[in-house]
Amino acid sequence: MTQTVFTGNFTQQEPIPEAAIDAAVAVMRSGRLHRYNTAPGDVGEVAQLEQEFAASLGAKYCLAVASGGYAMGAALRAVGVGPSDKVLTNGFTLAPVPGAIAAVNAEPVFVEVTEALTIDLDDLSAKAAASGSKVLMLSHMRGHLCDMDRLIEICDRDGIVVIEDCAHTMGGAWRGVPSGRHGLFGCYSTQTYKHINSGEGGLLVTDDAAMMAKAIMLSGSYMLFERHTAAPPTEAFAEVKYLTPNVSGRMDNLRAAILRPQLADLPAQVARWNALYRAVEEGLRNTPGLQVIERPAEESIVGSSIQVLLPGISPDAIEAVVAGCQARGVELKWFGAPEPAAFTSRYDSWRYAPVQSLPQTDRILAGLLDMRLPLTFSVDDARVITEIIRDEVMSAHVEA
Ligand SMILES: *Cc1c(COP(=O)(O)O)cnc(C)c1O
Repeated sequence: MTQTVFTGNFTQQEPIPEAAIDAAVAVMRSGRLHRYNTAPGDVGEVAQLEQEFAASLGAKYCLAVASGGYAMGAALRAVGVGPSDKVLTNGFTLAPVPGAIAAVNAEPVFVEVTEALTIDLDDLSAKAAASGSKVLMLSHMRGHLCDMDRLIEICDRDGIVVIEDCAHTMGGAWRGVPSGRHGLFGCYSTQTYKHINSGEGGLLVTDDAAMMAKAIMLSGSYMLFERHTAAPPTEAFAEVKYLTPNVSGRMDNLRAAILRPQLADLPAQVARWNALYRAVEEGLRNTPGLQVIERPAEESIVGSSIQVLLPGISPDAIEAVVAGCQARGVELKWFGAPEPAAFTSRYDSWRYAPVQSLPQTDRILAGLLDMRLPLTFSVDDARVITEIIRDEVMSAHVEA
């Protein structure tokens, strides 16, 4: 019997759109790559990107920076998080999240994940009380939004400031409110693997004038903050400009030029991602031993990756599924592996943080598989991939 094999590449993104290439070439021809190196009367690509991104989210203020990790760090610093402060965060997230907390010498307090792959709100309440932490770095890991209404209710009640890590939810929303607009700050990444691609880059939004003034000074605005067009008025900088260190992490005009046309295309790209996602989800639903993660009606998703659970599966059996799929060209990541590999490190791999025990997260990650869905795949590709995963999961269960 010949087995179906998939030949697509799971890390192949689409090319940068021609309009973005033209805009990038124009910036290079001008020689004005630094955001503050603008010609008389010119606003510059970075300031325009900030205005457009703020408008797309209905945010008052926006700052473009060097990376998503930088955006999170600037938000933590602006909020005043410092050495040995405790910051609540997801036990299931990616390394730059605890890394941003460690970068300000603060301590991450990890919160359990649920089977919906969102932060466990009961554990959040308990750990907020036990740790006394007043800041939550909430990671919408792999695009899953928790019940944001309940989360904000809990955090408001307990006086916890919420910073949202929207690296996987740019374009997503909860009950129509865009991801990143529920907390004090929303942080986004424009790194190649995210939803708009400038190689590296980040964006930060807030409606709070004092917070944004600090973030702008932190990013390395010197005394040129008046060149920002998605910034609070000059008065907001009156004291902040003397009190805030310059921790350079600006975005440049070249990256912003590449991002602006992609931002305009984002809604159409989200629709394409979701078509791939729903095709895979439908194909995998009702596979014995496999649980798809049902998405709540309140959530507007961006299906740039998909996760499934194989509850109760043994480590050997899940390794066999990953290896079987790999041999047939389908790249799955297992978040439960004892040793961190590629992007799949988890809370117990981050040994710079105090040792913590998250039994529920351990149990869920032991059966969690993750797959990227690049837009270079078609819906037909999604069907082939689905058939391979179904086969491999079913044969692992027969052998188990
Ligand atoms: C990529 C990522 C970040 C940070 O983005 P960088 O731009 O790479 O610094 C933050 N959180 C999550 C969950 C990510 O995947």
